[in-house]
Amino acid sequence: MDKKTFKLHTENHDRDIFESKYIYPVLSRRAGGLSLGINLNTNNACNWQCIYCEIPNLTRGNPEPIDLNLLEDELRQWLFKINHTSFIEENGPPNTSFADIAFSGNGEPTAAKEFADAVDRSIKLLKEFHLVNKIPIRLITNGSFIHKNLDAIKTISKYNGEVWFKVDAGNTLAMKQINQINPSMKQIHNNLDLCIRHVSTVVQSCFLKIDGSIPSNKFLDDYINFINPFSNNLKGIHIYSLARPSYQKSEVDIQRLDLEELSYIQQYINNQIDCLIDIFP
Ligand code: SF4
Repeated sequence: MDKKTFKLHTENHDRDIFESKYIYPVLSRRAGGLSLGINLNTNNACNWQCIYCEIPNLTRGNPEPIDLNLLEDELRQWLFKINHTSFIEENGPPNTSFADIAFSGNGEPTAAKEFADAVDRSIKLLKEFHLVNKIPIRLITNGSFIHKNLDAIKTISKYNGEVWFKVDAGNTLAMKQINQINPSMKQIHNNLDLCIRHVSTVVQSCFLKIDGSIPSNKFLDDYINFINPFSNNLKGIHIYSLARPSYQKSEVDIQRLDLEELSYIQQYINNQIDCLIDIFP
């Protein structure tokens, strides 16, 4: 059956199809099943503005205040639905399993002042539903506020969770173009280092075809040089491309890299970095 006949499929990560404010289930290729997303950025605000970002009406800024009680109620309702009803069977392809609870959403989750409290409430519910050590909590982040959220990161680690840390390029110019920020490579290095020291960490990298060109060897060499000092301590690297259409205006044309192109990049990087690299065409 066509996966698009299900409400949940990997090419639709619409946060609103199930009408909760903070919680949204999606089918995640990288998590390998149903991922229960927690969106702390209900105003679509992020401190970055990546050219491939799939969030409609993305604005620069911080999240609005979080109603933690509503978030907890919604998460409880969703965990009940997933664990005690036929929700997954009715809405996902056959053999879909519950993979994780993921702080992701429409902006940078760790920009929320309530991030640590939201992590604590999630752990409380994992305990309530006897899911500790069965369902991990994942933080999907651009890493820019890791240093301000170490206690929350340690809590995620304590309950066998992990962080997926975004690194889309290894030099300032490329990050400026792709993430539309003025990066300090030193700060990003320090935050990745801090993250790896406290929690199991996967680097996640979105590579694109820009104006018809795949990432150059120079681009990949800079990326490798940036990642190399961490490679022994990373859980892995996820390399993916545009999965869904970007909603951002950009001066450059961006396109999805195909399997062959991603495989070439995987091989090129693996020739110089001894680390598990997964690609998600
Ligand atoms: S960091 Fe994530 S949410 Fe923010 S602009 Fe980039 S892709 Fe979008």
